[in-house]
Amino acid sequence: MYKVLFTSDYEIHGSGMGDPTELVVEPTTRMLDQFDRYGAKLTVMADVGEILKFKEYRDTTGRDRFDFGGIQRQLERAVTTGHDVQLHLHSSYFNATWDEAKGYWKQDYREYDLASLPYERLREMIATGKRFLEETLRAKAPGYECFAFRAANWSMHPSPDIVRALVECGLRIDTSVWKHGVYDDLVKFDYTRAHSDLVPWPVDASDVCRRDPDGKLFEFPIYTERQPIWVFLTANRVYRVVAQRLNPLPNPDAGAHGAGPMGGGGAPKGRGGPLGKLEKAAKMLLRPQPWKMDFNQCTGRQLVEGLKRVEARYGHPRHPLPFVLIGHSKTFTRLNERMLAPFLAYVKDNPDKYSFGTFADFDPEVFREDRAA
Ligand SMILES: [Zn+2]
Repeated sequence: MYKVLFTSDYEIHGSGMGDPTELVVEPTTRMLDQFDRYGAKLTVMADVGEILKFKEYRDTTGRDRFDFGGIQRQLERAVTTGHDVQLHLHSSYFNATWDEAKGYWKQDYREYDLASLPYERLREMIATGKRFLEETLRAKAPGYECFAFRAANWSMHPSPDIVRALVECGLRIDTSVWKHGVYDDLVKFDYTRAHSDLVPWPVDASDVCRRDPDGKLFEFPIYTERQPIWVFLTANRVYRVVAQRLNPLPNPDAGAHGAGPMGGGGAPKGRGGPLGKLEKAAKMLLRPQPWKMDFNQCTGRQLVEGLKRVEARYGHPRHPLPFVLIGHSKTFTRLNERMLAPFLAYVKDNPDKYSFGTFADFDPEVFREDRAA
């Protein structure tokens, strides 16, 4: 049995721009409505960093310009109708200020890379986020608990301080890691050696990728495959990946992209011209790339094929395994809504093999023993 977990990062654009009603509340309403028609469960990964800023703006100006009220009602709807809300944190919002002239939230880039923050700061942020969700949601759902976490930009390296802070704050599950993922920009992580692409593991306090049978935090990885680009070909995705790889953020270390799937044995240094880019693009088409199971970028058919491949590799162990997908409210268009339908129908129509679920459906302790990985 596989439990399909849809996790959606609930946030505006990374630049601090955008209208929360349009990018967060409206698409999540469509997501919840669609999921309700199939009995699917959504886990909203609420970026409390920015939500607290929206609340602060309302409380200090008396104007709910960032729709804090709509956000609160939506999170309440989720936890009272069988969906879930868990903690996502963009640390750069804690000191953010609203820039009226430029129309965006000016973030504190010194606090951008979550995992690199000092332990005390991490603990303060995580405790604040958990407290906010529990105080807000227990008024409508008394049994509500915040126990699962996703880091800003998947930042869980270096691990010691953030793993310790999560455990100290009572978080039991992290769902940030995606196997094969490598970032070397403002955030740096290397998940190529993650213990599994699918099966949860108790985390080694020194490295989230490693398994420690005595670990107190469990990693539920976002399911990721290494495949040539055409397996997950959609115009939207190709554009994003190519743009990101060929135009990395300005950064003195940008050359270190060699750690990624484009790296090693690439074009000779200095070939940044059109020919060099073409050569890079050609290599990208041939080499396997890490693809997160993204329900806002893959088609429903691609998700069905991904789930079938998982089943072929892992069979049907005694305990249900999580198939964790990621999405973002801000990319959930109406076209995407239509493309997702075949996957929702496939899971619903095969109840002997699959079901929809949330993190609360799992007892992570069953993954302490290493069997399925
Ligand atoms: Zn995010």
